[in-house]
Amino acid sequence: MAGVNRGPGPETGADGSGAAADASVAVDGVGKTYDDGGSPVRALDDASFAVDEGEFVCLVGPSGCGKTTLFRIIAGLTEATDGAVRVAGTPVTGPTTDMGVVFQEYHLFPWLTVEENVGFGLERTDRSEAERERRIDEMLDLVGLTEFRDSYPKSLSGGMKQRVAIARSLAVDPELLLMDEPFGAVDAQTREMLQRELLDVWGSTGKTVLFVTHDVTEAVTLADRIVVMAAEPGRVDEIVDVDVSRPRERGDPAFGEHVARVRELIGAGP
Ligand code: ADP
Ligand code: MG
Repeated sequence: MAGVNRGPGPETGADGSGAAADASVAVDGVGKTYDDGGSPVRALDDASFAVDEGEFVCLVGPSGCGKTTLFRIIAGLTEATDGAVRVAGTPVTGPTTDMGVVFQEYHLFPWLTVEENVGFGLERTDRSEAERERRIDEMLDLVGLTEFRDSYPKSLSGGMKQRVAIARSLAVDPELLLMDEPFGAVDAQTREMLQRELLDVWGSTGKTVLFVTHDVTEAVTLADRIVVMAAEPGRVDEIVDVDVSRPRERGDPAFGEHVARVRELIGAGP
């Protein structure tokens, strides 16, 4: 739990009850069968793990192992067939503004400017216009897009679009940030920059982050713990503690050992 310093209420919720600012996630026996008429697909079977408040957890696994399915169930966008997810002790029954959600494909509104995209979620909060504007300014500054505030998404690079999506998800100050392969569509150099930026945001805000990736190096760069998944059926195979001091260097032998270990777990499947 290195690098986390939260504000108020650090001692709450040890017994899992009643902590208002708690953003812990409990995934308990979650399964999903897609049954859209054809033959049913068992996408996820009996997934269980917990994420502590302020923790950075990555979900890693091969394509088709149910990462997106699990992500969508946690976000309240897809209904589980079995089991339950709780955030701060409350069962997830649908999407809420307590979670910031970032997808691989940006999901920006093409007809809105950068500034309007970032402010989109704020419109539905009870903040005053002045507060909303200040928050948008802060977020644009955080992701380095102040000078592009009046641009439209189509004129931005992939990395910039993803910065807008991250700024938008953070604008409403969610306790929990859920990200599904958010850097999958950008080039390697931009990806490393975005990873560093995300770690800075996490370090300075103490948010809980659940981050899906199929990139093992990315997971070892980011996570406190890695939930390694396997396919057919999608399931949680193992949970690996990333015992590498931050900031992490790829040349560090401990870094390489963790990458090798997770790769071995993924490769060891059928
Ligand atoms: P991942 O994100 O790890 O690649 P997904 O969660 O997208 O995996 O998919 C897991 C499995 O569920 C795959 O076999 C996929 O084809 C299937 N699947 C995903 N979404 C649907 C859907 N809406 N309807 C039917 N099958 C689906
Ligand atoms: Mg996916």
